[in-house]
Amino acid sequence: MIGIIGAMKVELEALKARLQDVTVTRISGVDFYSGKLHGTDVAVSGVGKVFSAVCAQTMVLKFGVKAIINTGVAGGLSPNLKLGEVAIASQVCQHDMDTSGVGDPKGLISGINKVFIDADPLWVAKAEKAAQKLGIHTETGVIASGDQFVCDTDRKAWIRDFFRAEAVEMEGAAIGQVCFVNEIPFVVIRSISDDASGHAPVSYESFLKEAAQRAVALTEEMLKEAWEHSKAEGFFLELVEGANFAKSPFCILDEFFRFLLLNGFQAFRNFFFKTEESNWDKTSPKST
Ligand code: SAH
Repeated sequence: MIGIIGAMKVELEALKARLQDVTVTRISGVDFYSGKLHGTDVAVSGVGKVFSAVCAQTMVLKFGVKAIINTGVAGGLSPNLKLGEVAIASQVCQHDMDTSGVGDPKGLISGINKVFIDADPLWVAKAEKAAQKLGIHTETGVIASGDQFVCDTDRKAWIRDFFRAEAVEMEGAAIGQVCFVNEIPFVVIRSISDDASGHAPVSYESFLKEAAQRAVALTEEMLKEAWEHSKAEGFFLELVEGANFAKSPFCILDEFFRFLLLNGFQAFRNFFFKTEESNWDKTSPKST
């Protein structure tokens, strides 16, 4: 099952409407919608900021999600991102995390000793591929989160310069932290609703819906792709595993051939589709 987290109703309505065989479960005040979307099992939920961590943790513990996609809108920091275009996180950080008073670097998350948390490269690649297919311009880089709607030029410039961030929002890094401690891959996809300057509130109000729908369309395309991929894989594995080798008197040889077939398939799949386990870096902080 894949978990999809969107911060606001507008970011989720479209996805919820397309879920099949839906079950709604209310946990800690959050409604989780589980069902099928393009054949993929998903749990969809709306949140705030601390809520996004609560939501991600619940998805991991109660729904056993194997990956989390955070979709939504953000303030653009990069001059290369226009309204409606999309920031994809290769890393997330928390711009309001600050224990510099006791000598830590700004942004350091004590306990895991990191400023930046890596998103999963395979999911990042899936997001980039989906955007290409839909003709949406994207920038991949750092997305900064904090408990603040940024609409101030100085604050914007500081976040951009200090963290080299492409976009700013309020949930992605909280979800990233939960995924990191649970060793779950994640990706954050944010369509630009405003430029995080003094004009941001007006722009946000006007473009929220359109930008949110863009991020949702991208998420759906990723799920479609992931599903097609796993269907092809499942078909081949069923074929190999379902063959009735055991009836043969040469069953040891058969086992050997089955082993060769399965491993050959894995190697073929890894080579052509790059679906090998991601190199999840648990220990080395990029910039702490
Ligand atoms: N009470 C409002 C709060 C919206 S906050 C509501 O519930 O609708 C803005 C949301 O959009 C957050 O979820 C955040 O992730 C994203 N966002 C868009 N532009 C942003 C900006 N300039 N700064 C921070 N977050 C932004």
